[in-house]
Amino acid sequence: MKKEVQDLVNAGVMLPLMEEFYTIQGEGFHKGTAAYFIRVGGCDVGCHWCDVKESWNADLHPPTAIESIVENAAKYSKTIVITGGEPLTWNMDPLTEMLKSQGMQIHIETSGAYKLTGTWDWVCLSPKKMKLPTKEVYKAANELKVIIFNKDDFRFAEEQAAKINENCILYLQPEWSKRDKMVPLIVDYVMQNPQWKVSLQTHKYLNIP
Ligand code: SF4
Repeated sequence: MKKEVQDLVNAGVMLPLMEEFYTIQGEGFHKGTAAYFIRVGGCDVGCHWCDVKESWNADLHPPTAIESIVENAAKYSKTIVITGGEPLTWNMDPLTEMLKSQGMQIHIETSGAYKLTGTWDWVCLSPKKMKLPTKEVYKAANELKVIIFNKDDFRFAEEQAAKINENCILYLQPEWSKRDKMVPLIVDYVMQNPQWKVSLQTHKYLNIP
C-alpha cells in the first residue's frame, strides 16, 4: 500500500472495506432488526474458531474512502452495524462522525481489544481470551456477548461479567460449529443463572448473510 494511502487509513478517513450489505441483525439485543453492515478488514486477535478469517489481513481489502461507505449506507438504512475483523484496529472517529451527521444509529461489534474510538449508540462487546478488552470498553458496553465453544467458556463468561458495567445485558451464544453440543448446556446454564440470556446466530438459521 502506498504511504499516502496508508496514512489515510491510519487516520480513519479510508478503511480497508471487506464487504457491506443490508440484512437482518441476527444476534444479541437487536436480533431481527434490519441493518446495514459494514465489515472492516484487519484483526490480529486470532480466535481459532473465527468464521471470518478472510478479514484478518487488512491488506487484502481495498482502502475505501469513508464518504463512499456512508453514501452507500445512506441508501439502505438508518441502523448501521460496524463489524469486522476488529473495527477498533482503526480510528473509528471519522466514520462515526460522518454517519452521525446523517442521523444514523450506529452499533459496533467488537472484541474490545483496542482503544475505543468512535461515537456509538450501541456497543456489543464480545471478549476473547487471547486479547482481553480495555477498561474503557467494559464501561461502554451495552451488551456482553460471550461465545461458548467449550465448557471453560462459562467460567470465562463469569470472569468477564464481573468486569462489565452494571447496566450491560449478558448473552451466551454457542459457537456455530459446536451448537448441537453447547446449546443444551447454555439452556441449563441460563435457567440456573437467569442474569444471562441466550443469543443465537439466527441469520445462519435464516440462511442470510
Ligand atoms: S476477534 Fe472476531 S474477527 Fe477477530 S479473530 Fe476473533 S472472531 Fe475473528
